[in-house]
Amino acid sequence: MTRRQCTGEYKIKPIKKKVRELLGYPYPTRIPKGIFVEQWAGISTDEFHRAKDADVKYMHNRHPLIDMDWSRSDCIRYLTSLGLADTPKSSCLGCPYHGNAQWRRIRDTSPEEWADVVEFDAAIRKGNARANATGNTLLGEAFLHRSRVPLSDAPIDHVTAAEWAAIQQELTETAQDLDELESGVIDGCSPWACRGEVEPVQENFGLAS
Ligand code: SF4
Repeated sequence: MTRRQCTGEYKIKPIKKKVRELLGYPYPTRIPKGIFVEQWAGISTDEFHRAKDADVKYMHNRHPLIDMDWSRSDCIRYLTSLGLADTPKSSCLGCPYHGNAQWRRIRDTSPEEWADVVEFDAAIRKGNARANATGNTLLGEAFLHRSRVPLSDAPIDHVTAAEWAAIQQELTETAQDLDELESGVIDGCSPWACRGEVEPVQENFGLAS
């Protein structure tokens, strides 16, 4: 997995821009002390460690599921009671942490979105355009699917022996790793609580604050 810019570029940066606009203080206007929005993020009790404060004073994060002491199972039970048992995890369409099941769901239920992710996968082959422009070229090629073949050809309908072997060689041989191939990472994604590893967004991307 290479370094990702997704959380910073696609979520935090646009959210901050919108919040500043809503508050009436577009960047680089200084926001007076005591002016802030309250932002709710759906982090459940079993992912307590992912509940974080915003990195700016004009946004206060709240975590209502934790306040209510709701776990992931509580959420699923509640959604099921409303007839929404199929609610997918929160994530971007072209997330490299998707498992085969998530790729299949996109392909089989939304041809337009599938075409979009296939196109996106082809577009990232040479890596990040900005990094390439500054001489930090990608060594090799980038792919969304772990098999490292174009998404349109990736073996999302089954897990081949070769794929298992490659995964076992590369990753820690734990049941969780193997399960992730099918189900994707267990976490959903929200600003300040990305699906993958913690990402030092501000330092990396020089976001407006
Ligand atoms: S879901 Fe999270 S980790 Fe995946 S692409 Fe989106 S921001 Fe990145």
